[in-house]
Amino acid sequence: MQLSIVVPIYNEAEILPTLLSSVQAVMNATSFSYELILVDDGSLDGTAETLKRAAEEDPRVRVLSFSRNFGHQAAITAGLDHASGEAVVVMDADLQDPPELLPEMLALLAQGYDVVSAQRTSRDGETAFKRLTAKAFYWIFQKLVDERMQPEVGDFRMFSRRAIVAIGQLREQHRFMRGMVAWLGLKEVILPYHRNPRTAGTTKYSTWKMMRFAWTAISSFSAMPLRLSVGAGLFVTACGIGFAIYSVFAAFVLKITVPGWTSLVCLNIIFSGSTLIAIGLLGEYVARIYEETKGRPLYVISNTANVDTNAHAAKGVTLPPAIDLKHSHEESALRRNRL
Ligand code: UDP
Ligand code: MG
Repeated sequence: MQLSIVVPIYNEAEILPTLLSSVQAVMNATSFSYELILVDDGSLDGTAETLKRAAEEDPRVRVLSFSRNFGHQAAITAGLDHASGEAVVVMDADLQDPPELLPEMLALLAQGYDVVSAQRTSRDGETAFKRLTAKAFYWIFQKLVDERMQPEVGDFRMFSRRAIVAIGQLREQHRFMRGMVAWLGLKEVILPYHRNPRTAGTTKYSTWKMMRFAWTAISSFSAMPLRLSVGAGLFVTACGIGFAIYSVFAAFVLKITVPGWTSLVCLNIIFSGSTLIAIGLLGEYVARIYEETKGRPLYVISNTANVDTNAHAAKGVTLPPAIDLKHSHEESALRRNRL
């Protein structure tokens, strides 16, 4: 059986040599053959050169280089699209997902599961803020969006070939792989593990990027925020009606007709605030519909190494190799001389 190891990479030049040697060491100790699909998500440090060298030294190392930064989830998608193994695993480059777990995951997959999900039992080296927000996110997603989503399961997962075929059918622009896997309802098993701190470098997910990711997750999987805004609107309207009844009562029965400036201002703020929130939410969803209707490819690959691009042409955009302008210029000069 062949295993495809997919690794999304964004500015990880420091870690790459350690990653390559640890994967090699773990896989050489097993009886499985493997390919390592390294997806360079538009890195700006020395990642590209290191990857090129690694691919030249080892034909099992395949490299896909994006034309720009398309994001972690797009990089995973490209890797899965190009994987040819019967089993496929997605792993972060920073060794927070230990390669030592691969043999155990392969053994579980061999028992007939379609997805083996590694679950973080502890997270060393992460801030209390990150741990707390992650916990809150999993809770909200599970309770309000999809109860099939497993808590503390990230993108470190192994898939069977048939799971890869199913995932390959989901081509939405705003991607949240964990939700997509939960939605497919594949036969899944959980493997708890201890999450190490980053081996080197810093996180590529800023707080802002993390929050955008959480919003993508929730809004692309449900209309729950829209429903919440309808609920909030109904609540505010009910309060408004109550207050209207009270003011009529106050004017005609209690005869306290003091000009109610304060209450008017308060009501105005509440109503215009809730209306704006609802319009904003609608706008978010309309924008998403707009982006989906454009039907653009999810990524653009500008360079590859050790990859048969023809076999996967249909999935994303793979640019043909760049023409060596200097070389073709010399050639045409030669041709001209010959004529
Ligand atoms: N990554 C990527 N594109 C991005 C951001 C991150 O391919 O735009 C990769 C990164 O190189 C790493 C993985 O995604 O291999 C997870 O990122 P990171 O470790 O920074 O996230 P964290 O573990 O801190 O949540
Ligand atoms: Mg990490």
